[in-house]
Amino acid sequence: MILPALPGLSPEEISEWLATQNEPSFRTKQILEWIWKKKVTSFDEMTNLPAALREKLAASFRLTALTHSKTQGSEDTTRKFLFKLHDGRYIESVLIPANPALYGEKSDRRTLCVSSQVGCAYGCKFCASGLAGFTRNLDAAEIAGQVLAAEQISGERVDSLVFMGMGEPMANFNNLMAAIRLITGAETLHLGARHLTISTSGLAPQIRKLADHPQQIRLAISFHGATDEVRSQIMPVNKKYPVAELMDALNHWNSTKKQKLTLEYILIQGVNDDLEQAKILASHAKRINAKVNLIPYNTVEGLEWKRPAISHCRAFQETLKNFGVTATLRIEKGHDIDAACGQLRLKQETAEGIV
Ligand code: SAH
Ligand code: SF4
Repeated sequence: MILPALPGLSPEEISEWLATQNEPSFRTKQILEWIWKKKVTSFDEMTNLPAALREKLAASFRLTALTHSKTQGSEDTTRKFLFKLHDGRYIESVLIPANPALYGEKSDRRTLCVSSQVGCAYGCKFCASGLAGFTRNLDAAEIAGQVLAAEQISGERVDSLVFMGMGEPMANFNNLMAAIRLITGAETLHLGARHLTISTSGLAPQIRKLADHPQQIRLAISFHGATDEVRSQIMPVNKKYPVAELMDALNHWNSTKKQKLTLEYILIQGVNDDLEQAKILASHAKRINAKVNLIPYNTVEGLEWKRPAISHCRAFQETLKNFGVTATLRIEKGHDIDAACGQLRLKQETAEGIV
């Protein structure tokens, strides 16, 4: 039997467990501090707990939800961490230093790109994460544990988070929200909610649900096509939630949240980079008062898509700007280390014959 991971427990759940063990409730705070503030990697390091309690903890829980398996990149550059899960599967997180202000957060921060699922069911045609299909949701400990592990490995504080790694976070809504409570909680990781951004391929009902949820958070939408014709070609999810329905959900977001929306748009040569698309994209962005992040496509082994010439990317950006839309052009960091989501994990799992 696999023991549950201790970092997946909320403060209330730790208190409940302690009560069942006839342990005093003040131990909750001590345990939380060892996990989330001091970031220890063994129960033995929890020196202010009696040895008997440490033994009970070790017999009941795992201290970490993931095992660090590999790091690509180095300090001062984008670093990618590959983690092994208890069932032998892999996920990855990417630590991006001094990221410019892409999602409205302060600039010069260390941003961690976090995975939410093993694989992805949405099958976008350009994406490595979708290539091998969907395996399972990550639980709260595996999601929040990526931040903890990244801080342990790098020895640096993570300032902001983007849920842009492997998987569709909105399709794992409950675990995602539980992880966000651990990430933002004062007794746990205590990262400001305004430094968290969820990225979604456009699950309209979940966007509405999050809009109606009290959790403060930023939202980015993977738009990647301004019309149904173009978007459906590369994102099957568009057949279920076409552009008009997505826009309705985003309007609803604006009616309940003050956080400004971001539209992400990867530029793929000859697929969605026509300047006509830029004009239509501009009208969508204006309607919902969103900014646009343009990302030249990051090539994926085994896929034929290419990024357009940088001059053409700039022309696309200029078209948006001419319509009065704020548009940034993000030249992907970490192009050389398989930084597009899902690539490193796919390599590892292919090598091990898992996929
Ligand atoms: N499933 C969510 C979040 C994970 S993907 C979503 O789709 O939004 C995070 C972002 O990476 C998305 O905008 C996705 O479209 C983009 N992406 C996927 N593959 C890419 C690639 N090869 N190059 C550049 N961006 C890519
Ligand atoms: Fe899934 Fe997002 Fe990749 Fe689409 S882009 S396959 S939704 S991870």
